[in-house]
Amino acid sequence: MTMQWLHSLFKRHQPQIPEALWLACIARLPFLRQMAESDLLRLKALSEQFLAIKTITGVRGLVLTDEIAVLVAAQASLLVLNLTPDLYREMAGVVVYPSAFIVNQKQMDAAGVLHEWRAELAGEAFHGDGPVVLSWEDMESPHGFGDGRNVVIHEFAHKIDMGRGRANGFPPLLAAYHRDLQVPDWSRAFTRAYRDFGRRVDALEPRFPDDFELADPHHAAPHDHPFVPLPMDAYAATNAAEFFAVASEAFFVRPQPLMADYPDVYRLLALYYRQDPLGRA
Ligand SMILES: [Zn+2]
Repeated sequence: MTMQWLHSLFKRHQPQIPEALWLACIARLPFLRQMAESDLLRLKALSEQFLAIKTITGVRGLVLTDEIAVLVAAQASLLVLNLTPDLYREMAGVVVYPSAFIVNQKQMDAAGVLHEWRAELAGEAFHGDGPVVLSWEDMESPHGFGDGRNVVIHEFAHKIDMGRGRANGFPPLLAAYHRDLQVPDWSRAFTRAYRDFGRRVDALEPRFPDDFELADPHHAAPHDHPFVPLPMDAYAATNAAEFFAVASEAFFVRPQPLMADYPDVYRLLALYYRQDPLGRA
């Protein structure tokens, strides 16, 4: 079997996203508006490759339309546009719920006490060959496509971060792409920014509503009172892994405030993803 034959076989089976569908999807992603035509063409090709390889499944009554599939593929592919789709190689596929879903969560605290609770999630990424799970309602909410939050970018940032096991805010550095990135620089800048951000969220706490929960996907939007002064979703204060995922959302979707408050984090994310969203404007 020659490589040539494999290539043409793959090409025959790779779905083409119809131009009208592609344009309709891109129109819903305002953060792609400034992207160069050549980059958009590459993004479309990567999205077609994603759809050829990965299974996207609608559950709990969600009818998976072509539009939903393309919106997932395009935003997942945006993160790896200048890297490699191999970062998603192990992922089993993507599961889409109609709205936020309830999961049982467990965590052992420092004293060895097991805490169990039910959480409502807009998305979840499982490590290894596990899937990425998304809520369509949260994907397409007024915040979802451009106002600082983006659940697809968030979960796929976790998936990349999980390249060497559990997400911890230190995504794997790739020899082919990240020679300019030094682990100590990353560690120093992200630790400093994460601590500062946590202090800022703590300082806002007296203004939180009584029923406020940082982990609730509908509570902590950066533009909602009382979070207006924050450059990104307050949920970033949860831990280092969430800080990386939320900073990645801000980086792609609403980069100016991130650059203004944490320029080192912006610069390192630009080196990591090999993109400069601010430079597109
Ligand atoms: Zn997360």
